[in-house]
Amino acid sequence: MTATPCIICVAITGSLPTKDNNPAVPITIEEQVESTQEAFEAGATIAHCHVRDDEGRPSSDPERFARLKEGIETHCPGMIVQLSTGGRSGAGRARGGMLPLAPDMASLSVGSNNFPTRVYENPPDLVDWLAAEMAKYDIKPEIEAFDLSHILKAHQMWQAGQIKDRPYVQFVMGVKNAMPADRGVFDYYVHTVKRLFGADAPWCAAGIGPNQIVLNDWAISAGGHARTGLEDNVRLDRDRLAPSNAALVKRAAALCEKYRRPVATWRQARQILGLRPPEPAA
Ligand SMILES: [Zn+2]
Repeated sequence: MTATPCIICVAITGSLPTKDNNPAVPITIEEQVESTQEAFEAGATIAHCHVRDDEGRPSSDPERFARLKEGIETHCPGMIVQLSTGGRSGAGRARGGMLPLAPDMASLSVGSNNFPTRVYENPPDLVDWLAAEMAKYDIKPEIEAFDLSHILKAHQMWQAGQIKDRPYVQFVMGVKNAMPADRGVFDYYVHTVKRLFGADAPWCAAGIGPNQIVLNDWAISAGGHARTGLEDNVRLDRDRLAPSNAALVKRAAALCEKYRRPVATWRQARQILGLRPPEPAA
């Protein structure tokens, strides 16, 4: 039996890291496109994207998202573009203001939890609205599971027809004050996804800070897909900053080799996720 190819998602920027944390964090659209291209060439096939304003603060400006999406589609043909609707970049429906751009994917949080210094608020009416917008524009949601209840909520939304295909869940572990990187919980997450969505349902995992490589290892060895990138972690190890997003992608790709899983091509990634063919380059 051939091992399932592993999709590597690169979360290039996020809302929090700054050039002070690591000068390699791409902030301007030009830097973001360049960093994504390097990561794509290193094996990443999903670009998870946030945008920043001119002062480097998190933004949900649809015009910036449009420029970033166009840049990635031009320079990384075939790569899956995933736009963040996460709550650090805006409030209320502004979080989904970029969805009419109809990216391949968008992140969707379906419940609330604590973050390091605040509550990550995802009220039910906003969750319903974001899911409806994604369905309207044929965008595949990636369910950000910060807690077990979020996996079961995604299942309910699928049963109710709010999510069209079986949900693609990403376990997020190691955010301070949310779910830690706990192996027993991780195994139960995997068990729950298989029970609710089918033994062959694809899933992904992300770890924050030093947990990034831990979650990469757990996910790749357990048959899941892997997220890396400077959004979640700016270091290669205790002593060294990551020189680029691509360097973190290479680290995940090395684990794929260790566990004898091919790194998914963009065609394989689109097939695994049931995505439409890519937008033709402008
Ligand atoms: Zn994000």
